[in-house]
Amino acid sequence: GEKSVKDALQDLLKEYALDSVVKIIETGCMGACDLGPIIIVYPEGIFYQKLTPENVRRVVEEHLLKGRIVEDMLYKGEFGEVKAKPQEELPFFTKQVKIATRNLGVIDPLSIDEYIARDGYFALHKAIKEMTPEEVISEVKKSELRGRGGAGFPTGLKWEFVRKAKGDIKYVICNADEGDPGAFMDRAILEGDPHSVVEAMTIAAYAVGAQKGFIYVRAEYPLAIERFSKALETAREYGFLGKNILGTGFSFDIEIRIGAGAFVCGEETALINSIEGKRGVPRVKPPYPATYGLWGKPTLINNVETYANIAPIILHGGDWFAQYGVEGSRGTKVFALAGKIKNTGLVEVPMGITLRELIYEIGGGVPDGKKLKAVQTGGPSGGCIPEEHLDTPITYDNLKKLGTIIGSGGMIVMDEDDCMVDVAKFFLEFTVEESCGQCTPCRDGTKKMLEILEKITAGEGTEEDLEVLKELGEHIMKTSLCGLGQTAPQPVVSTMRYFWDEYIAHVKEKR
Ligand code: SF4
Repeated sequence: GEKSVKDALQDLLKEYALDSVVKIIETGCMGACDLGPIIIVYPEGIFYQKLTPENVRRVVEEHLLKGRIVEDMLYKGEFGEVKAKPQEELPFFTKQVKIATRNLGVIDPLSIDEYIARDGYFALHKAIKEMTPEEVISEVKKSELRGRGGAGFPTGLKWEFVRKAKGDIKYVICNADEGDPGAFMDRAILEGDPHSVVEAMTIAAYAVGAQKGFIYVRAEYPLAIERFSKALETAREYGFLGKNILGTGFSFDIEIRIGAGAFVCGEETALINSIEGKRGVPRVKPPYPATYGLWGKPTLINNVETYANIAPIILHGGDWFAQYGVEGSRGTKVFALAGKIKNTGLVEVPMGITLRELIYEIGGGVPDGKKLKAVQTGGPSGGCIPEEHLDTPITYDNLKKLGTIIGSGGMIVMDEDDCMVDVAKFFLEFTVEESCGQCTPCRDGTKKMLEILEKITAGEGTEEDLEVLKELGEHIMKTSLCGLGQTAPQPVVSTMRYFWDEYIAHVKEKR
């Protein structure tokens, strides 16, 4: 509804002859999906939520004309009976530390000047004018940043592998094929701050010695594609991209490749095949892309959120970034809160925060006084964490121990009314649909698992079926070719681990 609010606001500014005094800046997503459309009035920083073309008139007539905060525009929500408040006072924002999402909701994504005004391209300048490629890599290593796309591989180490790989031609790729159901952080970054990715890819290219880059974006993200294209154009005009960047003699450019919506193309080797114009199916690894990637050349692949952290790391130093988070999981992570939670949306928090803080203090808890049953993390490759583990600090290792992963940051909350067998079935249906069919365990095994789950949820399953389900899951995880198959049984395995009684109840309810 943001467009209609903006149109109404524009008309009102004209009506009151304020259009030359008040500037409307359209920004990217601030993360608070549940509260939108949002207006923030500067310089006061007053935050109005849930705007409509009708109630925006109050903001103009009271706040802009008379300087009075519209206190009587009440919003009955978890933030109390207040509609307008400075942003810093809203619980949704107080516990967040915004690094990757630093410019979302703050700048006009189409304006390179606004990006520069927030230190944009200063890191590129510093990297290529004051640092050697090795120094850049060393800073990224010092930050202990790990890949935010799912696998969590140390970013600096990956950069070093590509730097050291032999080859005159090297490539840098940005994986923007975000496909986990419920995850939309990469989309928000590309729509709200595209220059952060352009700048980071250029720094990465300088560090590893690449001349050419590709961003692989899914076709379902048209606004992200449009804004990223515009960012490429202006970055070239300003001399941050293209030939002879900042007069240093270093040249690098980026091309956009649009994916056709296959989930498996988020797997790095399938993505490479797809860019090469081949069918998007995973390759056997090793060799890894760092030595044998795009067209057989050394290739660096990171996802959008990983890149969005790079400029601040170069500008403020790896130690600065590593001050956030905990041992083994440094910095911040963006999570997409969804499901049975009051404040749905995107949040960026220091690693090591507990699930309880994230869900209750930032997310506002479960609506309608219901009891939380579990949290699903990591999308179709992840698993469910039951209520008793909510005080676990969120780290790569802790979530692994609980039988799930951080993944790309999707977090779906389930309450007491949700059936965990249905949840497992939902994710398995997704992976069956998305399996590329190249290897038997994933292609046929996941289908077989789904058939059993359907039988169980239809009240026709037996305890023997449960044993087969478990055994199949283990085999598929051990023998599939790529990450999709290796993790596909995970939602079933983890719900069986924590909610075995629900599976048994289904079997006992046998018709
Ligand atoms: Fe394709 Fe699944 Fe095999 Fe991966 S594991 S290659 S998605 S069939």
